[in-house]
Amino acid sequence: MNRPIGALQVPFHTEVDGDGVTMSVCRLDQVYYAKIKLQMKNGGKTVPASILPYVIVHATTETPDTWRVAPHPPEIAQRTPGSGTILIRVEGAGRYRLYIKEPTEDFPENALFEIQQHMLADGGQSGREVQPLVELDVNQSSDCTLSIRALNTNGLLRTRGTGPDSIPNDQDFLKFTDAHSSQELQSALDLGNHLISFQLWADASRTYGTQHPIVQGSAYREALTDLYSEGLNVGSGTGDIAHSRFLTFGGREVEFNHQSTTGGRGRLSFLADNGQPNNRMMADESLRRTHPATMEFLLKMMDDLDITYARVTGAWRPHVGSTRHRYASAIDLTHAKKTVMDENNQPQLVSIHFHSEDSAQSNPLGDGRRESPERTRMREFSYRVHQYIANARAQGGAGWLGGPWALTYGELGVGAADRPRDLAIRTDATHVHHLHISVGNDQP
Ligand SMILES: [Zn+2]
Repeated sequence: MNRPIGALQVPFHTEVDGDGVTMSVCRLDQVYYAKIKLQMKNGGKTVPASILPYVIVHATTETPDTWRVAPHPPEIAQRTPGSGTILIRVEGAGRYRLYIKEPTEDFPENALFEIQQHMLADGGQSGREVQPLVELDVNQSSDCTLSIRALNTNGLLRTRGTGPDSIPNDQDFLKFTDAHSSQELQSALDLGNHLISFQLWADASRTYGTQHPIVQGSAYREALTDLYSEGLNVGSGTGDIAHSRFLTFGGREVEFNHQSTTGGRGRLSFLADNGQPNNRMMADESLRRTHPATMEFLLKMMDDLDITYARVTGAWRPHVGSTRHRYASAIDLTHAKKTVMDENNQPQLVSIHFHSEDSAQSNPLGDGRRESPERTRMREFSYRVHQYIANARAQGGAGWLGGPWALTYGELGVGAADRPRDLAIRTDATHVHHLHISVGNDQP
């Protein structure tokens, strides 16, 4: 393998200035590579934080407050691989930060990067910054060698440690050597494991507000404003129902069941004091961690398919499952309702449950046998919901889809897909009782 240009043995040379003084000049074109393995907890186990979209930004020592999207060779994906290990290209002293890549945003190399804040329910900036998953601090010594350490910015002043409310401790500096100048993952300086705690997921996931351009530009602006201003109806009663939230728009209702915010409500609010016991996040704040494009997709689907009720049991969450829900683009649906006219022109309420065991009647595919009019209505309604999301995936508007029934593009009549036998919607043990929709194609 050819050695990259930056891999010269001597990191500096001497020059004699105009007064005859000999001085050291550090090379500016040195490039080193470091790697860090992102991990997370799932069901008590430590697993790789895989397929997570991320962006690396860089601020030099000279301009520590100017962040730019770090250049990266094309080999470096902007989504964590299955191992969770990412490669960081280091070009001199300064700081590198790894942020969760925001859905719907593009981050061209060298573009200025604005550090986002968690947004207040009144639409204003909170002054509380969205935290990086990790910061890499790169120091240059007088002998021109570079050293690096992984740390957490701790802008929201959490305790340090391994507990769910804590964020990881900072590491010690490690020195780059010539051996780390190849961009082969195996030879990069190994910064070890970085366990993203539940609280770090929360602090690193932006709380969206009403001023977001997607909210402002949406045909469902009023409904999205209700959601992002924490103006949803609160479930009446005590216990779990008090944590459910209800959004009504155009005669339709979305139930954000309490289960959709369980993980978020276990975490500390981004606010220094949100007035709640132990400063735990409310359901309303947790729902604002889901991206407006995801919520808009749900509302538009309901409008397009004339769905009058949908029950959501999963949205952004920091504590369980893959990174799909720890990212801001996923939503889980269990039930949907609409009213159709029957063969006698009488209105019939059709209620479907995306559950392979409890509601076989909601399977969008028939079994060829004679079926009741009720079953036909359920099948047709369910078919249209599945077809809608499969079509979104074929068009690039949706990513990974899962549900109780595995369905190909062909079975759903989605003609734009190149390969009709490919699965549009997958199934597995965790998706027997809901439909999972990933909006956007960040996690295909
Ligand atoms: Zn899901």
